[in-house]
Amino acid sequence: MISVAEADAVISKAVKESYAERVYVQPYQKVSLESSLGRTMTEDLLADRDQPPFDRVAMDGLSIKFDPAVLDQTLNKVAYLQAGSPNIFGSPWTQANDALEVMTGAALIEPWNTIIPWEDLDQVGTDNLGSWRIKAGLRVREDQHIHHRASDYAAGQNLLQSGTTIGPAHIHLLASNGVSNVSVYRQPQIALVSTGDELVAVEDTPLPHQIRRSNLIAIAAALHRLGLTSKYNAHAIDEREDLHTKLALALQTCDIVIVSGAVSMGSFDLVPSILQELGCSCLFHKIAQKPGKPLWFGKGPHGQLIFALPGNPVSSLVCFRRLVLPWICPALNAANMLHLPLAEDCNPAHSGFTRFAPACLVDQGFGPSQLSLGKAQGSGNFFSLIPSDGIVEIPPNDKPYPAGSVVRFFPWY
Ligand code: AMP
Ligand code: MG
Repeated sequence: MISVAEADAVISKAVKESYAERVYVQPYQKVSLESSLGRTMTEDLLADRDQPPFDRVAMDGLSIKFDPAVLDQTLNKVAYLQAGSPNIFGSPWTQANDALEVMTGAALIEPWNTIIPWEDLDQVGTDNLGSWRIKAGLRVREDQHIHHRASDYAAGQNLLQSGTTIGPAHIHLLASNGVSNVSVYRQPQIALVSTGDELVAVEDTPLPHQIRRSNLIAIAAALHRLGLTSKYNAHAIDEREDLHTKLALALQTCDIVIVSGAVSMGSFDLVPSILQELGCSCLFHKIAQKPGKPLWFGKGPHGQLIFALPGNPVSSLVCFRRLVLPWICPALNAANMLHLPLAEDCNPAHSGFTRFAPACLVDQGFGPSQLSLGKAQGSGNFFSLIPSDGIVEIPPNDKPYPAGSVVRFFPWY
């Protein structure tokens, strides 16, 4: 049995290898910027021009040619310059106190070189185009409020490297550099296989000894939210032939196989042995965690990744959120784990196990939110997940954690 940290390391390494071998290979896809969030770039982005491409006016106001002598004089507006215009409208600069009205985003023209925002000016006359004085006591620096050409980056600079996961800020950068369709790696193909004689479809009416299956629907919904879909979905009864057929098909068609149930100690927990028959290698089976101890993880004969989750709904969702999703979905990487204080004292699991528990965020107004845990419930009680904002990870410890202890929190997606 391995620890949660060891499991993280094994999964992360296997995912990197598997993606390099199967997913991050050609052919690449081109997707529109609007649909590229969370996707992984296959190419570097080189700046197609300087940013800003001109000396950009950064405030609405008046521009002068800086001269200390002019700062306490009346400034006369002689012309104006709009954003999007290559020329000024009005008369060119001839005198030290000639001012140009400028709008944010305009491309500043010589000899004007300093901007005084409207907030810092008092109007003193309305003759001609108007006149203003700088408010008393204000310091005006030469060159102020100008966003200089190439001060952010220069044409040709490498702005984003291949392998970058596209987030909202990356879209600005790609769009500003004229990329309307971006080259990305394909999404991994995912198979979802549930197991269990007692399980019927959601739309069926269960007999008294049966239940409806919910695990993989919860997982499919999470994948859908993150832009991933399952390509192959199947339910197998607890019988070697059926499981063998369905797992073999999953391995044939997909990069990632997520199985629910039949990985524990029962006589009909056939998944590990059938995966072995199908040429899969086990990288670990069982983690020192509650819930979710029976998790099985391994690789298929062609580098496919296999996550076989325990069937109990709480275990299945906890394992998926904590140990599957962050690794298979680059958009949901470590940034989606928070470190937050516990609102109340909290007991760890016994005997060196990591405890996972549903938790609610308690808003403190100021300061970080705190985490409030419900009463500990069994891993079969999926009602205990409601209401919760995510799960907390309580590391093994020989005494309770006092309120205020900072722990990892994994928000639901
Ligand atoms: P197992 O891991 O197959 O031993 O299943 C453990 C428990 O989880 C059993 O009570 C199952 O009925 C339940 N279970 C297994 N798979 C699902 C599923 N897909 N949806 C809901 N409950 C399940
Ligand atoms: Mg079962």
